[in-house]
Amino acid sequence: MDGGLVGVTSGVVAAAAFMSYAVRGRSSRVFGESYYHGDRSKPALALTFDDGPSESTPKLLETLDKYHVPATFFMCGENVRRCPDVAREVAARGHELGNHTDSHPRLDFKSPRFIYGELARAQETIQETTGAKPRWFRAPYGVRWFGVAQAQQLLGLRGVMWTVIGRDWRWPSARVSGLLVNNASNGGILCLHDGRGVRPAPDIGATIEAVEYTIPRLQERGFEFLTLTQILCPQN
Ligand SMILES: [Zn+2]
Repeated sequence: MDGGLVGVTSGVVAAAAFMSYAVRGRSSRVFGESYYHGDRSKPALALTFDDGPSESTPKLLETLDKYHVPATFFMCGENVRRCPDVAREVAARGHELGNHTDSHPRLDFKSPRFIYGELARAQETIQETTGAKPRWFRAPYGVRWFGVAQAQQLLGLRGVMWTVIGRDWRWPSARVSGLLVNNASNGGILCLHDGRGVRPAPDIGATIEAVEYTIPRLQERGFEFLTLTQILCPQN
């Protein structure tokens, strides 16, 4: 290889690495305003759940009530239309609702028009069904793309990733609990799932067990659980 080709190759590698960070990096703001933690000087945590509401969400609501913990639920429009009563129950119990697209697609390589449609349909369904207007958006799989920034802006949404992601869709509850307990830190945003994409009646047993184990342990360590708005916009 001559020097020119080496230069071109390393340039391509660097560009690919940059794109990968831009699309999936939890701190990336390349495709729009995005947050991944709150105030690091305060012992507060935000518990967030993606991919709901589902037929399995009510059991999780009971656990959160038991510990008087408010959470933030990133809902998919399709799930809200399938389980409207559950969506309303989540809001009625004082939890915050966020937007997680309508049908849970990966947004990379999609057109700005497609992306806007996904966010707008979810926003409309959530608002019409529950009366709550989401102010936070979390991209499925954490994948952002061209057009997300504009869609967020038009719909009054701000992007949110996470500080710690629980891998509760794949791991047994003990491993999820260990990850959360060991990695919780001031201002942390914890990400779990009360659904699995837009699949009906998902098994979220590992999620519920992990929540049941983790909340009292983190409360004992002095952490207070807050909604995303409380942790990211404490003045509101
Ligand atoms: Zn998701």
